[in-house]
Amino acid sequence: MTFIVKKTYFIEEIKTTTHMRKMFLLLIILGGFSFLNAQTQPIRIIMIGAHPDDCDGGGGGTAILLASMGHAVKFVSVTNGDAGHQTEGGGALAKRRMAEAKEAGKRFGVTYDVLDNHDGELTPNLNVRLQVIRKIREWDADVVIAPRPNDYHPDHRYTGVLVQDAAYMVGVPNVAPDTRALKKNPVFLYFQDYFQRPNPFRPDIAVDITETFDRKINALSAHESQYYEWLPWIGGYASEVPTSAADRLTWLATRQTEPLTPEILKALEKWYGKDRAMRVKYAEVFEVCEYGTQPGTEEIRRLFPMLKK
Ligand SMILES: [Zn+2]
Repeated sequence: MTFIVKKTYFIEEIKTTTHMRKMFLLLIILGGFSFLNAQTQPIRIIMIGAHPDDCDGGGGGTAILLASMGHAVKFVSVTNGDAGHQTEGGGALAKRRMAEAKEAGKRFGVTYDVLDNHDGELTPNLNVRLQVIRKIREWDADVVIAPRPNDYHPDHRYTGVLVQDAAYMVGVPNVAPDTRALKKNPVFLYFQDYFQRPNPFRPDIAVDITETFDRKINALSAHESQYYEWLPWIGGYASEVPTSAADRLTWLATRQTEPLTPEILKALEKWYGKDRAMRVKYAEVFEVCEYGTQPGTEEIRRLFPMLKK
């Protein structure tokens, strides 16, 4: 009897120990998962431009870097680009540009959405504002990048206004209630521009894209209708465009080389340190918008993990 009791007790003890071990293991596994999760939770970035090639030029190198680190990047064109050509137009051009955008998206490693609004006719109306709000919400964006509302092109200008108009509304559940409102307002940034009035662009964040520059140029070249046809024609330099694919890439790389101004160099030094900053050949820079979440230095480093001293 005593023996049996002891045995039962022993079995119970074994059961308890096994149970505790299992629980302990489970806790370790769960802890490990949440740790991994915290480390690998992808940053979600959405870049919004007016035309199917705007995000590419302003943030393509940064997008390649983020996507290659496992983060989620989406490009959105608010118009379908159906006015951006000297001899083509309408639905046929919109279709051609959609195909170019999809190809560019593949080369950048991002998803590319093109909204079906007419090119050259964009206005900051409620309908398009709701489209923009939905895109930011559906992407569950941590960061939104768009043009400043000062620009020569009305579509660029109004894309800037539309994204600013969405910068608070993405969190308001009663606006566009068919799409879940964001719990946290994203960080809103501006692409670089050269306009001086009412105030010049301020490079708050500088990303070294030297190592991805060639990939960026290769992705940009997917927009054949733009970089090799329309932009040279409207810019008066169509005669410069080479005919062979290899020569075109070299030519496009030269055209896309932007000067590293003293302000940009200062920003590069801030984020990468002096030594690395001196070696940078190509950079993309962004300004923090006053609307949306205001990030501190550490938060910017979390959202742009390639910024390392
Ligand atoms: Zn544009």
